[in-house]
Amino acid sequence: MRKRRLSSLCEGGDGRLSVICHDQYMTTFDVLNPATEAIIASIKQSTVAETDAAIDAAARAFESWRHVAPADRARLLRRFADLVDQNLEQLAQIEVANAGHTIGNARWEAGNVRDVLEYYAAAPERNLGKQIPVAGGIDITFNEPLGVVGIIVPWNFPMPIAGWGFAPALAAGNTVVLKPAEITPMSALRLGELALEAGLPAGVLTIITGTGSEVGWRFVTNEKVAKVCFTGSTQVGKKIMAGAAEQVKRVTLELGGKSANIVFGDSDLELAAARAPYGVFDNAGQDCCARSRILVQRSVFDRFLELLEPAVKGFKVGDPASEDTEMGPLVSAAQLGVVRSFVPDEAPVAFQGSAPVGPGFWFPPTVLTPQSPSDRAVVEEIFGPVVVVLPFEDEADAIRLANDTVYGLSGSIWTSDVGRAIRVARAVDSGNLSVNSHSSVRYSTPFGGFKQSGIGRELGPDALLSFSDVKNVFIATE
Ligand code: NAD
Repeated sequence: MRKRRLSSLCEGGDGRLSVICHDQYMTTFDVLNPATEAIIASIKQSTVAETDAAIDAAARAFESWRHVAPADRARLLRRFADLVDQNLEQLAQIEVANAGHTIGNARWEAGNVRDVLEYYAAAPERNLGKQIPVAGGIDITFNEPLGVVGIIVPWNFPMPIAGWGFAPALAAGNTVVLKPAEITPMSALRLGELALEAGLPAGVLTIITGTGSEVGWRFVTNEKVAKVCFTGSTQVGKKIMAGAAEQVKRVTLELGGKSANIVFGDSDLELAAARAPYGVFDNAGQDCCARSRILVQRSVFDRFLELLEPAVKGFKVGDPASEDTEMGPLVSAAQLGVVRSFVPDEAPVAFQGSAPVGPGFWFPPTVLTPQSPSDRAVVEEIFGPVVVVLPFEDEADAIRLANDTVYGLSGSIWTSDVGRAIRVARAVDSGNLSVNSHSSVRYSTPFGGFKQSGIGRELGPDALLSFSDVKNVFIATE
């Protein structure tokens, strides 16, 4: 971080990204392209005073936004969704340049913001209370907005995680201050511009860049912020939960994971092995839902590894802007260092894929076969393209191993036995499970973690309730 001219990323008419400079001096943070290590922008680091000013503006905007007629709020959110759609390619290119996401993933992510906005644009007019039968009058409930919601976003999925917070929060009548991660602020800044262009009044959605310890923590301590929606590491999540307790502030926490991909002997083994890399190496493994422990029934363990090897070696790692690339670089030198620490020289590497050499934060898809369930790579979240494969004996053993973690975010079960699929899905302590698939996220279904993977749920039909307080009103008729 240093004092320098502020610059930012913009798009020329040809869809390419370039840097523009503003005539201002302030403390900034250099933002890199993780595939090339080139500086693509220098972004302002806001101070605590500036954060307070943004929160004050959001609190003022709340007084009018909460009274915007539901149909008008819906119309504004639909317009915002339309603008995201019209700028989808630009948003995707920003994410390729800033986060090293493959262009295919980045297009999906921008499309997800559009879809989430469209889905919750239908919500203001359907934000129904209840009429509860009581004696002597009428009892009705209202879902009242909370006020200012602070959303803290990590670097691994900057666009979707921002949208999962701001779309339902705004639909419920709250205003939002949103802090992207220091190293991946570009797409959030562009989404903030599109919100204004769509006609959302100033102060309704404010993107404020800065550090977690200053801007993010101020969301926790400033009394005008009614709720903090945090996605990131379990370590910081615990701190936020403890800090929020001071004001009995509402929190939603989406934290880490160490999810199991359970492969039974009765599964379609070829398919399970072919799909396993996509369950863990997507986004270079920087996915809280990564199935980073593959548990395989001992009777098919060796055969599974034989089938997995060509799938891993064939995983296409390279320039994230190329249409056929399946995995790009890690997001930063720091994350590369973390991932490398899990694969020391003596690591039990079964086989590895390939990755480019030269500039960029590259690490190849790597498969480990540790002997001990207490091995660090088995226990800790790696957040990189490294997976461990472990054998299990039977259904009970698979469930025991899957649950042998402090986390509980997602997981997969591969079997051709429907009864077993349901039994195991019910027994694994995890918020999001898929059978014969690695799908975790749909905007119309709830998403969130058990145990230390978090608290609360995002997305799905009930998300507005997380951004409202229920008010009960009794009207006497006698
Ligand atoms: P991080 O916890 O360091 O940072 C996440 C965000 O919190 C960033 O915006 C950061 O600036 C901010 N922050 C950091 N310290 C803060 C503080 N004291 N007060 C307020 N805000 C603070 O995590 P990261 O390195 O960005 O992301 C990687 C981790 O996040 C992984 O452990 C991963 O599992 C987890 N994650 C979980 C989910 C999920 O949905 N469960 C999604 C993405 C990432």
